Amino acid sequence: MQLDSFKRTLGENGIDFLLNEPMKNHTSFKIGGNADVFVSARDEEQLLTLFAAAKEYDVPVFILGKGSNLLVSDKGIEGAVVYLGNMDGITVKGEEIICESGASLCAVCVKAKENSLTGLEFAYGIPGTVGGGLYMNAGAYGSEMKNIVVKADYITPDGCKGSMELEDMKLGYRTSVFKLNEKIITRVYFKLKKGEDKEIQAKMNELISRRKEKQPLEYPSAGSTFKRPEGYFAGALIQQSGLMGKRIGGAMVSEKHAGFVINYENANCEDVTRLIDYIRQKVLSDSGVNLETEVIFVGRK
Ligand SMILES: Cc1cc2nc3c(=O)[nH]c(=O)nc-3n(C[C@H](O)[C@H](O)[C@H](O)COP(=O)(O)OP(=O)(O)OC[C@H]3O[C@@H](n4cnc5c(N)ncnc54)[C@H](O)[C@@H]3O)c2cc1C
Repeated sequence: MQLDSFKRTLGENGIDFLLNEPMKNHTSFKIGGNADVFVSARDEEQLLTLFAAAKEYDVPVFILGKGSNLLVSDKGIEGAVVYLGNMDGITVKGEEIICESGASLCAVCVKAKENSLTGLEFAYGIPGTVGGGLYMNAGAYGSEMKNIVVKADYITPDGCKGSMELEDMKLGYRTSVFKLNEKIITRVYFKLKKGEDKEIQAKMNELISRRKEKQPLEYPSAGSTFKRPEGYFAGALIQQSGLMGKRIGGAMVSEKHAGFVINYENANCEDVTRLIDYIRQKVLSDSGVNLETEVIFVGRK
């Protein structure tokens, strides 16, 4: 890895970056060591330039949305973390909304409401970007990205641009084809339906209230720690195992919703990882169910 040459190319091309940037400042868990280089991309051209440089100088690249589904290593992330949150344009054309992938899901929900478009209300309160949402096929309250996305534009680390239709995205429960390839989603096309302003707002309000009531939003977390095992609820299994309030270091199983591991008090990645392992073992021995994490671990082992 020739980091100095990579940084020089970024500088020469006016691409903003920070060195040794703490990832705990960029994750909803407020956990994570330093990224060697933290790049804020402004547009597709910058992305293509930085990927070409990363290839030439052998620098690994990790794509970051809002960091709301990540557990980042205390040892940080090698190479470049590329933050897309500044690529956040949103355009409305009739019943279609076209977003740059760094747009926040909540901002798109508000835009949909302002244009009396219904279908996105479920995503109001999911604290990620449109790109991260598609990558994860984010969903809640009976709907998911799969139901409203029609197309996405992407680039590849080799500098190719392309588009993909919904049927090729293989969207399933918290999964997509983007987990299996290295494509970087740059734009997402939603197809919504005409609705009533007031009803859309009422639905959004209702779902936010439900989140506030049920979820430990007062603590940093990465949302549901585990995927829903078929036929069960992760939170219920964890609760049945008596683990609500279980603490390891600064990490704790929420007392409000057992499906959330929270950063209760200055937790680090090690604390969370040990708590996750503990929960998985206890639930497996008590209920015979193997919990799989929804949260994605990133960084140096
Ligand atoms: C309080 C709370 C509540 C939550 N509630 C929900 C919920 O109800 N439903 C739900 O599904 N999730 C929920 N989440 C989890 C999380 O918000 C979603 O998974 C979200 O879609 C992640 O988006 P992000 O931009 O933060 O992605 P990140 O966490 O930054 O990244 C997640 C993955 O996506 C990849 N990625 C991000 N952007 C791109 C891109 N443009 N191209 C290619 N890959 C990309 C990253 O490399 C990474 O592998 C919740 C999280 C929190 C903290």
